[in-house]
Amino acid sequence: METDHQDLPKHGNFIDGVEVPPVGGKYFSTENPYSGAAWALIARSDQRDVELAVASARSAFADNAWSSLSASQRGALLRRVADLIIENAPRLAEIEMRDNGKLAAEVTSQVRYVGDYYHYYAGLADKVQGAVIPSDKKGVFAYTKYEAKGVVAIITPWNSPLTLTSWKLAPALAAGCTAVIKPSEFTSASMIEFAKLFGAAGFPPGVVNVVTGFGKEAGEPLVTHPDVAHVGFTGGGVAGRKIYELAARGLKTVTLELGGKSPNIVFDDADMEQAMKGVVSGVFAATGQTCMAGSRLLVQRTIQDQFVQKLVDFVSNAKMGDPALMETQIGPVATRPQFERVIACIEAAKAEGAVCILGGKARPDIGAQFVEPTIFADVKNSMRIAQEEVFGPVLAVIPFDDEEEAITIGNDVAYGLAAGVWTKSLHRAMVMTDRLKAGTVWVNNYRATSFTSPFGGYKQSGIGRESGTEAIKEYLETKCVMISTDLEVPNPFIRR
Ligand code: NAD
Repeated sequence: METDHQDLPKHGNFIDGVEVPPVGGKYFSTENPYSGAAWALIARSDQRDVELAVASARSAFADNAWSSLSASQRGALLRRVADLIIENAPRLAEIEMRDNGKLAAEVTSQVRYVGDYYHYYAGLADKVQGAVIPSDKKGVFAYTKYEAKGVVAIITPWNSPLTLTSWKLAPALAAGCTAVIKPSEFTSASMIEFAKLFGAAGFPPGVVNVVTGFGKEAGEPLVTHPDVAHVGFTGGGVAGRKIYELAARGLKTVTLELGGKSPNIVFDDADMEQAMKGVVSGVFAATGQTCMAGSRLLVQRTIQDQFVQKLVDFVSNAKMGDPALMETQIGPVATRPQFERVIACIEAAKAEGAVCILGGKARPDIGAQFVEPTIFADVKNSMRIAQEEVFGPVLAVIPFDDEEEAITIGNDVAYGLAAGVWTKSLHRAMVMTDRLKAGTVWVNNYRATSFTSPFGGYKQSGIGRESGTEAIKEYLETKCVMISTDLEVPNPFIRR
């Protein structure tokens, strides 16, 4: 991330409806993980830029242009931006691919699907309804109403920048909040182009702002800013805990999505072919760089050898290469530090006695940051490779004998984001979905997410839920109104 590429295209911040240079005039470079080459310069923001962005979001929130809109009018704007996102999906996807190496085969449809989130929340905006409370107090008419929290900070990682931002931004806007987004320093370019679409759709300036830069320099001033009411974060546990701590000092609410070490559990009555594809999609799709990666394969001992062989045969033929080519199945690891971390995790697994039965090496012959799809057998659930999030194409295989053991091993981890269960038995599926401690349990599929369905983690996987009708509540305050229907105030010395 040197700064001596002054000839590259420059991206500023997006504040108050326009792209502006950073106050300090500093930029850093962003690299293509396939070629390793720098391709753009990104604004290196600090507290001064954050002040400007929050001030803009604050005045947009208070300003008539935003707060006087009815929920239906906000919905209409969200519908317009949804259409623009869908229209611009190929262009935005191309930028994302250049920044994080996501496959062309996946990223365009993923960005198009981002538009669907705004359509969903456009519909929800004017369906947020309070309730009339059947009060036990005689002569009191009580009801609840929901009000937007205010300015929301959105801090996102590099793996799916526009998707993970929109899981927060779409419900926040539907709720009536305004936002300042701090994207990952590794994938900022698409966010600036994305933010411009809100202006084009007719959103007033200041409703959506973007400040780019590093966690300490730009992220922390945003989290601690007194005018920020809520922080929505997706990323690693270290940054997540720090943000939680900083937000707590200001008594701000948070939603945190911090990843996982999810079990993908295959029983001997499962459809082997489908389960095998489900395991692949769980941990090798997106080069394993997903929070919901099914990075622990729990396989019933009776089918272990046969199933693992089938998996190895299939994955050995996966095509690694240029993410821009439609036939590529495994692309590069998105960032240099992440690439080094994946390699270090593989070495640690070998050192602790896990047996590498596939892959296990870097592939500089293919591109800057390639790691072979890697499978470890003979893994004990106490090993680091079974407990720590790798965030790369690395699978740990752990055998089990029966349902009880699968549940024990499945839950014996600090995380609780997701789990997969492969079985033809409805009874078994019900037992497993009841007893697995995870925010999402997939049965006979893996890695499906939808704007309609709440997503989030138990335990160390985070706090709060994104998507679905539940997500909008994260951005709303509940107000209770009590109106006296009596003409006279009763005895004022006694609480009513
Ligand atoms: P990170 O958690 O360090 O960063 C995510 C975002 O938080 C970035 O925008 C970053 O600038 C910001 N940030 C970091 N420190 C901050 C602070 N103190 N205050 C405010 N903002 C701060 O993620 P990373 O460095 O990109 O990856 C580290 C690890 O996180 C990976 O190895 C992986 O295990 C995990 N990860 C998880 C997810 C997920 O979806 N849960 C996504 C990406 C990475």
